[in-house]
Amino acid sequence: MSESQPFPGAPLDRCGLNRHAVFDLADLPDDIVGSIAGGTTGYRQLILIGHGGRALWEAVKKSGVGGADPIDDFTLRTIRQWMSECQPDNRYTILYPGPQPLALQRLGALAGWHHASPFMVGIDAEWGTWYAYRAVVLADTHFAPSPAVDPGASSCFHDVALGHGRSSPCAACQEKPCIAACPASAMAGGAFSLQRCVAWRKQDGSTCALTCLARVACPVGSDHRYCSAQLAHTYSISLQTIKEHY
Ligand code: SF4
Ligand code: SF4
Repeated sequence: MSESQPFPGAPLDRCGLNRHAVFDLADLPDDIVGSIAGGTTGYRQLILIGHGGRALWEAVKKSGVGGADPIDDFTLRTIRQWMSECQPDNRYTILYPGPQPLALQRLGALAGWHHASPFMVGIDAEWGTWYAYRAVVLADTHFAPSPAVDPGASSCFHDVALGHGRSSPCAACQEKPCIAACPASAMAGGAFSLQRCVAWRKQDGSTCALTCLARVACPVGSDHRYCSAQLAHTYSISLQTIKEHY
């Protein structure tokens, strides 16, 4: 059996893909592994890659990558280059970005990144809500797996509201300014109302067309808050999805 190898994350960090978690497939819940289209035969690990803060946005702008989804295109290009330079002898396939649905928030919870906020965007103590999942890679690598995380973490808003999400920053947040900052009162009933949020965002001239005022009001990780252009890019994609499906 090969010895495990430290994860060579520095080249990814330099491109703003600065969050990494490595799972041995054998340690992941069966339903997650079983849901992977095409199966996992020949692979040994699943690598979750994310970004935190503004570095990825800066790297994408500097790269000159354009098109409809420059962040995904830049991410795919960066990962292929990283694998060919750092792990040329390993077999891999990129599951995400891609067409198949993946339980990203569950993987994020297993990595210790995801705890549900009242407005259902993931939050953690370091980055606040200013991070996202950028790639999931299956590989036959032997990287050292990421350490197991606090089993008290919860991805359920009701747990958070009740204070059961022990490692969520929301559990210790007394004022919960995000709730008052939402102009649609989408969290006023003690649970998140997607319907209210969507109705507000769809209005002409909505104050949440290109942002989420609740997210911006959260003080956790505020040093990493996206710039207005990054926010506009992120929220224009979700607004388009809302307009197509609601
Ligand atoms: S303001 Fe408080 S309750 Fe709201 S997301 Fe931030 S930490 Fe959680
Ligand atoms: S996008 Fe706007 S309406 Fe929706 S939860 Fe955030 S603040 Fe509320």
